[in-house]
Amino acid sequence: MGATCNTALAAHQNSLQTKGRFMLSAARQLPLIVQRLNQAHPSARYELNFDNPLQLLVATILAAQCTDERVNRVTPPLFAQYPTARAIADADLADLETLVRATGYYRQKAKAIQNACRALVERFGGQVPRNIDDLTTLPGVARKTANVVLNMAFGIPSGVIVDTHVARVSRRLGLTEHEDGERIEQELMATLPQSDWILFGAALVLHGRYTCTARDPHCADCMLNDLCPKLGVAADEVDEPAVATPACPSSGGTAVSKLRDLVPADWRDVLADEFEKPYFAQLEAFVAAERGAHQVFPPERDLFSALRETPFQDVKVLLLGQDPYHGDGQAHGMCFSVPPGIKAPPSLVNMFKELKDDLGCKVPNNGYLVPWAKQGVLLLNAVLTVRAHEPNSHKNQGWEQFTDAIIRAVNDKKKPVVFVLWGAYAQKKEKLIDAGRHRVLKGAHPSPLSMKKFFGSRPYSAVNRVLQEFGSKPIDWQLPDV
Ligand code: SF4
Repeated sequence: MGATCNTALAAHQNSLQTKGRFMLSAARQLPLIVQRLNQAHPSARYELNFDNPLQLLVATILAAQCTDERVNRVTPPLFAQYPTARAIADADLADLETLVRATGYYRQKAKAIQNACRALVERFGGQVPRNIDDLTTLPGVARKTANVVLNMAFGIPSGVIVDTHVARVSRRLGLTEHEDGERIEQELMATLPQSDWILFGAALVLHGRYTCTARDPHCADCMLNDLCPKLGVAADEVDEPAVATPACPSSGGTAVSKLRDLVPADWRDVLADEFEKPYFAQLEAFVAAERGAHQVFPPERDLFSALRETPFQDVKVLLLGQDPYHGDGQAHGMCFSVPPGIKAPPSLVNMFKELKDDLGCKVPNNGYLVPWAKQGVLLLNAVLTVRAHEPNSHKNQGWEQFTDAIIRAVNDKKKPVVFVLWGAYAQKKEKLIDAGRHRVLKGAHPSPLSMKKFFGSRPYSAVNRVLQEFGSKPIDWQLPDV
């Protein structure tokens, strides 16, 4: 018995020493971890939709034990009916319960949002306070919710968002060994510079949701794989790269269910019907098999970055490309765009030349078009993956059907949208667009093959003229140097 205890004690001490070593090394690796998270999710945001801090506060309370996707379905009618803290405070509780019913625990949640709003009205003039001490005095608002609101709605680095995803990934990375969210937050705040708090929390939520998932973390595709001790991840939980055998759509395996899970929640709602169609299961199987057997671009984490950077409700321009770049490191999920540090390809160089002639914009030192995407320019390719160095290798596998559904969804938006179709391939999609409600701007493609016709077409000022006509804010096309 004594020997058993001694053995157990020794094993425990060994495990603590091992954990200690990992934690030390994880802390040293932290700048690199942050750098990679920043590259993968440069503009990470919480996936709850909101227009103001109050909406985010309410949505975050509703998101307890519920998916963001479902909350995003519930909140538009809720905020349409009760747009202010006073309105929610004075609402009929039974009516609130009905409106939030789909989020689960609806009685407690209706009461929680009403109590929080009553406190806002009574003590803060109906406004959401901008500091964590006041926010956490609201009933039902703990540090996590307060940090979500302050980080995401106000841009204030009050602390690090620690939800179940951040807690789990931090433990696996060896950044903490605690279970309690507030203790984890204290450790992260002590290790991370304050300037990284906002990005780190939001990016780790996305990483945990789509890559370092609770079951079957996708370590093989993980950008942190070489830095991560994978603490607590059993060997058989790790999702190894798929082998060359295509995953069967009906097998229920994880490989074929990944694509739909990677689509951001707001777009997943809009595109829900597509996931039920046979072509989509075939497409998932095809991409899984290709990733298992070949190098495929863009990396999985960037597959839907165009949708992530331009939420459905924000789309006001759709610029359509064809195929992802097939060179190393170029494709990151947005047409024409390349990540910082990657040389702009010829079409993009021509786009910048025309931009200079059209609006006098300085040619940037990078080809990273995310600032356009964040202003509502959906940079959509018709095909979303490609085998490395083999252009058009993933055409006619189902992506066109899926991206046609995206174009149709944008076409169905109430607010008019500017569709920019360069070249014959993109212009074939004109039939999906109601040109009576929206505006279609056609022109030559900026590729070296047609650049003579592209130069002088002044597409950027044309887009802005139409946006002004529509009563929308024009795009600031000037890209910053990075
Ligand atoms: S390597 Fe695996 S355990 Fe570590 S962060 Fe990535 S997905 Fe998670």
